Amino acid sequence: IRKRLVIGNWKMHGTSVQNAALLSSLGDYAGSAELAVCVPFPYLAQASQSLEGSAISWGAQDVSAHAQGAYTGEVSAAMLADFACRWVLVGHSERRAYHGETDALVADKTQAAIGAGLTPVVCIGETLAEREAGRLQEVMLRQLDQVLALGGDALSRIVLAYEPVWAIGTGQSATPELAQEAHAFIRAQLERAGQPQVRVLYGGSVNAANAASLFEMPDIDGALVGGASLQAQEFLRIAAS
Ligand code: 13P
Repeated sequence: IRKRLVIGNWKMHGTSVQNAALLSSLGDYAGSAELAVCVPFPYLAQASQSLEGSAISWGAQDVSAHAQGAYTGEVSAAMLADFACRWVLVGHSERRAYHGETDALVADKTQAAIGAGLTPVVCIGETLAEREAGRLQEVMLRQLDQVLALGGDALSRIVLAYEPVWAIGTGQSATPELAQEAHAFIRAQLERAGQPQVRVLYGGSVNAANAASLFEMPDIDGALVGGASLQAQEFLRIAAS
C-alpha cells in the first residue's frame, strides 16, 4: 500500500550543462518506484522543462515559512508550485545545522508547503553524539512533535525521511537493522497519530549496493539519496532495487 519512493537530493551541486546530461539520462525512467529529484532553486525551470511528461517528478530543497513579503533571499511555496514542484525537502539536517532551523520553523515550513499543494519531505535524524548518549528516541520525538501536532489532515499529505546525521555523506549507511529500528519507532508515532500510511524514507549514504537490503525492511518505504543521485546510472539502479 505504501508505494516505494526514491528522491534524489542534489544539494548544492550541478551546472546547466551537467544537469542537462543527468536529467536526460533519467527522463525515460519507467520503473515501478516513484522517482523524483530535488534540485537547487535556479535549476527548477530546467528540471521542469526537461522532466515534463516523464515519469519523474521534481522539487526543491527548502521553502520559506512565509507566504510572501519582505523576506530577501527566500522562496515561497507558491513559487515552487508555480514551477510545478511536487516535493520540497523540509528540515534537512544541513538546514538545521548550518541555518539554525528549529523544530517550530520546520513545522511552519511543512504547513506552508502543504498549503501550496506540495508534498513536504520532513527530515529528522540524530547526531552520533545523541545516538551514543542513548537519546535517539528522545531526539526523534522532539523533532516529530510539532509536525505531528499539525493534525491528521496535514500528516496525510507529508512524507518523512529518517536521516541519521552520522550516515550522511560519510559512506557509512546505517545498517538495515539499525535503520529499521528507527523507522519502526517513527511508524509507531504515526500510528498513534492515526496516519500509519505516511511514507518514511531512509537517507544517509544510500547507494546501488546497499539499497536493496534497506528496502527489504518492513518500515523503510524508499530513500532520500544525496551523492549517489548525481550519477544517473547509480540513481536508476537504486530506484530499481
Ligand atoms: P548522502 O546520500 O550523500 O549521504 O546524503 C544523504 C542526504 O542528506 C540526502 O538528503
